[in-house]
Amino acid sequence: MNVSAFAEENVDPTSLSEVSRRLEELQVSEARYRTLFNNVPAAVLQVDASEVEETFSNLKRSGVDDIDAFLLGNPHLVEMANNSVVVREVNDVALKLFGATESSQLLAPVAYVFAGTPEASSNVMSAHFRGRPNHYQKLKIRTFDGRIVDAALMVSFPQDASNFDTSVLMIIDMTEQVRIERELRKMESEFAHFSKLSILGEFSGAIVHEVRQPLSVVANDAATAARWLSRSDPNLPKVRELVDRIEESVSRANDVVKRVQEMASKTMSERQHCDVNRLVAGALTFVKKEATRRSVKLTSVLAAACADVEADPVQIQQVVVNLVINAMQAIERSDNQAGFIRVSTRYDNGRVFIEVLDSGPGIPDGLAVEIFESFFTTRKEGMGMGLSICRSILQSHGGAISVTNVAGGGAVFEAWLPVATA
Ligand code: ADP
Repeated sequence: MNVSAFAEENVDPTSLSEVSRRLEELQVSEARYRTLFNNVPAAVLQVDASEVEETFSNLKRSGVDDIDAFLLGNPHLVEMANNSVVVREVNDVALKLFGATESSQLLAPVAYVFAGTPEASSNVMSAHFRGRPNHYQKLKIRTFDGRIVDAALMVSFPQDASNFDTSVLMIIDMTEQVRIERELRKMESEFAHFSKLSILGEFSGAIVHEVRQPLSVVANDAATAARWLSRSDPNLPKVRELVDRIEESVSRANDVVKRVQEMASKTMSERQHCDVNRLVAGALTFVKKEATRRSVKLTSVLAAACADVEADPVQIQQVVVNLVINAMQAIERSDNQAGFIRVSTRYDNGRVFIEVLDSGPGIPDGLAVEIFESFFTTRKEGMGMGLSICRSILQSHGGAISVTNVAGGGAVFEAWLPVATA
């Protein structure tokens, strides 16, 4: 209604000025809303979803309650929504985010919003059907000028069914955050690599010993075999036996070299079906000598029936080695002379557990969570990265790690991994 039309119908000048005042207020409020709409640091799209709301009401009336299953069985419904929910209004940020030159490009069915992440469309429908007040998810935007942009989508649904013509989508450009996250992950993997190298450095003596020992057996056996062969009546069965042993020793030395190589390599994480008991036993060969040198009794109790896990074997061994090194350092700090570490595995309800128990002083009160944070350390020469790397390795495998103190002193770290699916 405009003021002059109103003026023709109403002669009362006081009410006329009241109307004009209200209109002015409305204009001010509209301008304020416009400014806000255009200055929000997010793309804002106002959409009309009333047709979908109507379809949903009909579905509910006809007894549909599991919308996810229904959408899976009726993909045309998602397509219908993509084409019937229409963008009515957009702000300037939306234009920029979608690489559009004019708003008319965006005032169209919402299909283009979901083009880079098609499943987002059914997620939004599912949240709408369930009457959620809003929905949040990551989104890849396909822009009009051919780029792919990482973004976060927030949908706010009207709580009154009659207002579905003014649903709001907000989209935030996450390019910078995704870049920072990627950098952080890269830094973390550099740290993990550094930590592996420092483990190797710490145990280089033991490793050299492990390679040297089978090699000296080889040298001895070869000399003995040569002697047997140079006799006038060569004892061939004996030589055969020695050659077999040489082969065995060489393969032992090779295994050690391979393990070191794997540990030192900087290859990307590689998942495979692994037997946790074998991983633990392999990791312990790294630390065995060091434990003996420190007079720490290192034992293992491996579960008889342990399901396989889907894991990067080098990373899991790195966790075990880290925990055992930490335990040795903790024992060194305690007065307890009879130091021991027990590494055990156990299967329980879809999870494979690795436990490292020590006879050290235990974790100081209230620090059972903090010690897993990056750069948290109580050691003068510590970096505080070991446990944080262990935690991120386990989390990236879908598992977790925690610690508790045991009565009478000492700590027990418990790491778990989900069992591999068939
Ligand atoms: P760093 O060994 O460089 O300090 P970690 O992340 O491996 O880094 O460990 C963080 C801290 O957790 C250690 O400084 C120590 O205070 C504590 N900690 C780790 N393992 C044990 C343990 N087995 N017993 C007692 N404290 C431990």
